[in-house]
Amino acid sequence: MRAAVIERLGKPLVVQNVPDPECPPDGAILKVGANGICRTDWHLWTDDWAWRGLAIKPPFVLGHEFSGTVEEVGRDVRGWKKGDRVLFPMNPGEGTCEWCRSGNQHVCDSGAQLVPGVSYWGAFAEYVMVRFVDVNLVRLPESISFVDAASMACRYMAAFHGVANQAAVRGGEWVAVHGAGGGMGLSAVQIAAALGANVIAVDVSERGLAAARAVGAAVTLNGTDGNAVEAIRSITKGGAQVSVDALGIAETCCNSVLSLRKLGRHVQLGHTTRKEVGYVPLPIDVILLNELCLFGTFGMQAQRFGTMLAMCEAGRLKPAQVVSETVGLEGITAVLERMGTYDTTGIVVIDSF
Ligand SMILES: [Zn+2]
Ligand SMILES: [Zn+2]
Repeated sequence: MRAAVIERLGKPLVVQNVPDPECPPDGAILKVGANGICRTDWHLWTDDWAWRGLAIKPPFVLGHEFSGTVEEVGRDVRGWKKGDRVLFPMNPGEGTCEWCRSGNQHVCDSGAQLVPGVSYWGAFAEYVMVRFVDVNLVRLPESISFVDAASMACRYMAAFHGVANQAAVRGGEWVAVHGAGGGMGLSAVQIAAALGANVIAVDVSERGLAAARAVGAAVTLNGTDGNAVEAIRSITKGGAQVSVDALGIAETCCNSVLSLRKLGRHVQLGHTTRKEVGYVPLPIDVILLNELCLFGTFGMQAQRFGTMLAMCEAGRLKPAQVVSETVGLEGITAVLERMGTYDTTGIVVIDSF
């Protein structure tokens, strides 16, 4: 099969023929329909996450946010067959640990070994192998295209889980989204707006802010003009009920917490970088005095996709609007290079292999 292979970290990917993946008894081989290029790919390609023990060893094939068609299933698989249209959430479980058995396989104890494109070769290729498919695969309705579904396996599902499930955003609430112009940020803006919230989008890029307006932001603020936190507190008369850090750098995380009114809910959607190494100073007394809640969010379990897909089918959510561009395997390197300077808006999806 064709695949875009990392031969050296940080250097251009090389599109070449590699052996097809083999199907394990509990797994499946998917023919990849589309695959989003994620900031996680950039973190791995630049070796930015070695400090957290997440590093890849070349030769390696990235790609963890994909949709496609089942090509082959293992002998133990009961719920799936060749030809099924599916997506595979990027944080799968094996189905038997305490977390899996309580319906939380997205935080499975063995999850870290099961992520395609992170723990083993992923879907910047014609085919990809996935494990424990009876626990993890999601059936894709005919009305949702592979390109629209690709980001649902990572950023779009995480944004939905954070906004709809964790923070339980309700109609009429103010929701501030920091780092709104990236794939995760635009997804959060669109989902919060679809749930009836008034969304304030903050970004340093005018292009990102225009994209946020197009997916439903009521107010946009450029983080480089003065104080975004003061502006949010003034527009909302005391702070937002919910605030989202979609980026994961110190400034967006701290600003998100400071944007909240009393009893507000912060949602952490962005992972930190080599600069923060996992730690961000936060205003602890503000959190204490205002009884703020902090929600971590990491993907979403397969069985919770029903309401999100129903909103897509009804036209209330439009994941296509957060897809900014499609490329082939040869176009991946240029997208990763642009991510290094935060020069991407929305989600770039690979749609030809
Ligand atoms: Zn991703
Ligand atoms: Zn488990």
